[in-house]
Amino acid sequence: MKNVLYGKCVKCGKTYPTTPDLTTCTCGGILDIVYDYDAIRREFTKETLAARSERTMWRYRELLPVEETTAPTPLRVGWSPLYEESRLAEQLGLGRLWVKDDGQNPTASLKDRASAMAVAKAREAGAQVIACSSTGNAASSLAGNAAAAGLETFIFVPSRAPKGKVAQLMTFGATVISVEGSYEETFELSKAAIDRWGWYNRNAAINPYLSEGKKTVALEIMEQLNWQVPDYIAISVGDGCTIAGLWKGLKDLHAIGFIDRLPRLISAQAAGCCPLNRAIETGEPWHPMEENTLADSIAVGVPRNADKALMAIRESNGLTVNVSDEEILEAQKLLGRTCGVFGEPAGVTGTAGVKKLCQQGVLGKEDTVVSVVTGNGLKDVANAIRACGEPITIPSDMGRLLEAFHQKGIPLE
Ligand SMILES: *Cc1c(COP(=O)(O)O)cnc(C)c1O
Ligand SMILES: [Zn+2]
Repeated sequence: MKNVLYGKCVKCGKTYPTTPDLTTCTCGGILDIVYDYDAIRREFTKETLAARSERTMWRYRELLPVEETTAPTPLRVGWSPLYEESRLAEQLGLGRLWVKDDGQNPTASLKDRASAMAVAKAREAGAQVIACSSTGNAASSLAGNAAAAGLETFIFVPSRAPKGKVAQLMTFGATVISVEGSYEETFELSKAAIDRWGWYNRNAAINPYLSEGKKTVALEIMEQLNWQVPDYIAISVGDGCTIAGLWKGLKDLHAIGFIDRLPRLISAQAAGCCPLNRAIETGEPWHPMEENTLADSIAVGVPRNADKALMAIRESNGLTVNVSDEEILEAQKLLGRTCGVFGEPAGVTGTAGVKKLCQQGVLGKEDTVVSVVTGNGLKDVANAIRACGEPITIPSDMGRLLEAFHQKGIPLE
């Protein structure tokens, strides 16, 4: 990998050669992939990029830790739309607002970016089997991207994972182990199984290449904004890999001179499970919390990438915001009604956070904000119905239709 120097431990600074099966440091610390930015600057320009026809995450190959000979993965991952949402901005009292709908990835979440990277690296490692534990989306994205590449998967999910995600896993042909316990217990079992059978490890934070895949969301946002940096980027946080990846992408672009300043991050967590935000707010080390939220993808009581996530929030002079389940469901409805964007609860938590910060007067008319929707609402229809209600249900009868319209107060001639 000609643009990659080494993997470097974020705790002790020890460096490692970037073998495809690289995991954590011997001290237990998470590794960060370090690039040769001078070399990248020389060959990679905005013009080279603009001339490229590839509309996937692989268009940023110079900034990705893969061999030049490694083929792009088969599914179209990345290049999701970035919508400017003027009406929602107006309604919230913001200067400008964009929504990045990453639920439009092939398996309908931002996790596809990490899973496509895992598949590329597993191929480089010559592995046939990949395994992970996941709250749901890492699992379904791995199963889908691996299926398309002809690889086998073993997936561990907590039994609370919503049916939509489990249906994806079964459809993609994964061997699925539904663990009767928390995400923390699910993770521990997957770890023991991976150690025992030597599968390629796609566990969050353990595999340092995954957040390099996730960082492509930042590269895209900036390219889609024509390198005009917004004041804030809001995103939901569970294990912390996503926000760490987002920050890495922004720092990469800054290091190679594509952007001239860095935005501040908004770390949005569920009030019922916010160990990382609590650490920032109290200035203390993070402590485990119960997983007490319906936003299953960010119900992470023991975050696996705490160090990198906390560093990202702090370095960016970021904001934290914790939202209740009611506020999450409200945001789901608001995005649906105002933008036509359907996010799952964890997917809309960033937007719920933006709304709350507007109400608190922290964000306002002067501010420009990108809110990333990280997962699609079809994954969890039960909570969508909870947020938005049931339809009018009647027999095929005009009288009953008129009656129902009247009852609902729908004004018709
Ligand atoms: C995984 C996930 C997140 C959070 O990512 P982390 O890396 O766990 O912080 C947010 N939203 C959705 C939809 C996810 O699947
Ligand atoms: Zn270390």
